[in-house]
Amino acid sequence: MFILLLGAPGAGKGTQGRLLAERLGLPKITTGDILRAAVQAGSPLGREAKRYMDEGKLVPDAVILGLIKDELAKAEAKDGAVFDGFPRTAAQAELVDRTLAERGQRLNHILLLDVSEDELVRRLQQRAGIEGRSDDTPEAIRTRLQVYQRDTAPLIAHYAQRGNVHRVPATGTIEDIATDIKRIIGR
Ligand code: ADP
Repeated sequence: MFILLLGAPGAGKGTQGRLLAERLGLPKITTGDILRAAVQAGSPLGREAKRYMDEGKLVPDAVILGLIKDELAKAEAKDGAVFDGFPRTAAQAELVDRTLAERGQRLNHILLLDVSEDELVRRLQQRAGIEGRSDDTPEAIRTRLQVYQRDTAPLIAHYAQRGNVHRVPATGTIEDIATDIKRIIGR
């Protein structure tokens, strides 16, 4: 089963994705984590990605499409996965759709974690104090929210056309939201 978590930065994709992946025994693929690990390691990918990430901009598709292809090709993602943080652009969505279709698979559930902009800003600012991520500065947060609206939010309409997008109000407790997701997925 392939599950896509959609939603703005701060919507809780990471938290719910982890719970969901653990519960269903699926791998979770998180492009943000992969990129942060590459930055830490100082690899060529990390060096290229870092300047975009620090500003809150998307790492270009020219870089990300190859990364997504590699992740989808891994043995552990053969039968299912939880996708967190991608696809984030039309080109990424096309790659994911096409790759799964070629394998006779599809995104089974698309969960849109829905949180108001005010709450997102509040959460991201709070997290900034705890995690110290280099893209949690006020300017980068603003850019990330704008980039989400411009480049990623249009994917909601793209997937809604197929009728398998579920909106999850994501302002309750972590447990409440997880219960909601369980109900939607049916397991
Ligand atoms: P958030 O959703 O809170 O911004 P992520 O960890 O998903 O956090 O992403 C952090 C940064 O990593 C993004 O701002 C972007 O620079 C980069 N990134 C992550 N995933 C992608 C992707 N699929 N395409 C392009 N850039 C990405």
